[in-house]
Amino acid sequence: MNVLVINCGSSSLKYQVINSESEQVLAKGLCERIGIDGRLVYQPAGGEKEITDAPMPTHKEAVQMVLDALVNERTGALKSLDEIEAVGHRIVHGGEKFTASTLIDDDVIAAVKECNDLAPLHNPANIIGIDACRQLMPGVPMVGVFDTAFHQTMPKEAYMYGIPYEYYDKYKVRKYGFHGTSHSFVSKRAAEIVGRDYSQLKTIVCHLGNGASICAVENGKSVDTSMGLSPLEGLIMGTRSGDIDPSAMEFIASKEGLDMAGIMNILNKKSGVEGVSGVSSDFRDLEAAAKEGNERAILAIDMFAYRVAKYVGSYVAAMNGVDVICFTAGIGENTGFIREKVCSRLGYLGITLDEEANTARGEEKLISTPDSKVKVYIIPTNEELAIARETVSLVK
Ligand code: ADP
Repeated sequence: MNVLVINCGSSSLKYQVINSESEQVLAKGLCERIGIDGRLVYQPAGGEKEITDAPMPTHKEAVQMVLDALVNERTGALKSLDEIEAVGHRIVHGGEKFTASTLIDDDVIAAVKECNDLAPLHNPANIIGIDACRQLMPGVPMVGVFDTAFHQTMPKEAYMYGIPYEYYDKYKVRKYGFHGTSHSFVSKRAAEIVGRDYSQLKTIVCHLGNGASICAVENGKSVDTSMGLSPLEGLIMGTRSGDIDPSAMEFIASKEGLDMAGIMNILNKKSGVEGVSGVSSDFRDLEAAAKEGNERAILAIDMFAYRVAKYVGSYVAAMNGVDVICFTAGIGENTGFIREKVCSRLGYLGITLDEEANTARGEEKLISTPDSKVKVYIIPTNEELAIARETVSLVK
């Protein structure tokens, strides 16, 4: 079965066509600057990347351009659109309503809209993408795969905030967690690699990308994760602060004459390793600056790794142990010095890193030594493939 996987942002749309039997990507790309001027990037398997500037006022035109590219006579990966048998949509926030992926119908869309308040930047864009696909591909089954669903197994003591209970009752203010598709994919793969039963394994997944989160997966269930009501909580990220004393915000707001929107903008877009270093949110730039002796770049790197190690320690406590620790996403897969800094703080768990193995990038690899009490792996994430698999399992 060929599955079109769609990940819609407010002005962008990423797509892949995946054949579910071979799990090969037949074509992939993205639409950028939707509603501004518009650009389509299209790349068939084994072919050249093509970039076309073309107006796409809304996501509907963007989806249409993707479909046209997929069946283009010269470079199209498909002969006809009938070859797309299902569409899998990434949906950021499923609130407490969605504990698993689901076939999309009008009721599901209405329920997703009820979660819009919780993810005002993401969910409306996801729905626009779904609407566009339903209009252009009537009759093709669509599946919604939620970033939050995997974490719906967290126990209440893990997901409640220490604030008046009425805010949970009235508005469902609580920890939800994100990157669930990735945490689920990587933890399942870890169980396969170590040859253990997924339902009897304690895994900690460090998804370290521009957005970063950690998840404690006990016996196949997420029992805690570092992101919260929104993707702002937890680790120090590219431009997001992660955990912070809320009083610091009131203090800065009064000193700088900022309102809540101004503060949220700083926490989401001007903080993290970029805000601390003043250099960049990209770890390649930070590494280069650190090598030249830039003290704030060195500090930002150390803060990032320290926070990761602290969360890993807290999740060992939450699960009363850990069997496997996995590093994934852009930084987790590619940045050996971060993995080394994190693991150097985990010696008390009996972890020793294999320095040679830890030079690996972007490949599945055991990076702990044979005598390490906890196994440490690099496991590349593949959210699109995970969405395609979920889609197929529901459509079949
Ligand atoms: P997101 O999906 O959240 O945007 P990614 O998982 O793509 O983030 O990770 C992006 C980050 O990963 C970059 O900011 C960069 O710091 C790091 N990264 C990506 N590729 C490499 C690489 N080849 N070497 C070192 N760091 C990398």
